Amino acid sequence: MKQFLTVGNWKMNTSLAEAITLAYAIKLELKNSVTSELQIVICPPFPWIISISEIFRDTHIKIGAQNISFETRGAYTGEIAAFMLSDICSYVIIGHSERRQVMGESNEDIGRKLIAATNAGINPILCVGETLQDRQRNETESVIREQINKALTNVRNPTKLTIAYEPVWAIGTGSPASPSQVTKVIDNTIRPELTRIYGHSLGADMPILYGGSINNNNAMKFLKEDSIHGTLLGNASLNAKQFSDIARLTSEAKIST
Ligand code: PEP
Repeated sequence: MKQFLTVGNWKMNTSLAEAITLAYAIKLELKNSVTSELQIVICPPFPWIISISEIFRDTHIKIGAQNISFETRGAYTGEIAAFMLSDICSYVIIGHSERRQVMGESNEDIGRKLIAATNAGINPILCVGETLQDRQRNETESVIREQINKALTNVRNPTKLTIAYEPVWAIGTGSPASPSQVTKVIDNTIRPELTRIYGHSLGADMPILYGGSINNNNAMKFLKEDSIHGTLLGNASLNAKQFSDIARLTSEAKIST
């Protein structure tokens, strides 16, 4: 069965008071308006995860983390291990371009994080995507193949894996990729790579999201595409109405038809 998702990444935004207000506003907006078949995931900053998870406890909205350590436990100052998150987080974003580019995470680090998450029973959302320079050099396909291959080499249990295709040049710029650019990368690179690694039965059903400057005005043209199973949202997830509209549109495009 295909899984459809709307994922919000709050990044390093919101004070505690702002996070609580946003969570209650999303809860109110989405009350009774989307089916439980749509997986809605909210990824608050680490220190707010417990408070926000309490707010969504009686709903089908799931909580995700924005990062995880690849180590299991021990003397790693400032790190957060998978076992610390597994009771409260159903999902974790791994390999976001900001972590790759700003924090210098390598494909190998990302592979280890995927294993840490799956071992702890947390569903990983693996972000892949090319920079503008990669695209201009015609290296989109090779960059994404390498990101997928290196990250997934040792991931033997990928049943709960979601991929997010996020071209770096489209993130936070207000200029998304076009739906045809997105489906071309998914259909010609990401999906074939997943089926090559995991075989048709697993690889064909893994959800693939798009992320990069999605809002409630442009979301539908992406969601209409069969190859796109939902969205990963940055800015739009900080606005309860925008986020909820996109969740409703996802439900409309993918589930109610
Ligand atoms: C992101 O950072 O993953 C993202 C998609 O951000 P935005 O929606 O703001 O482009």
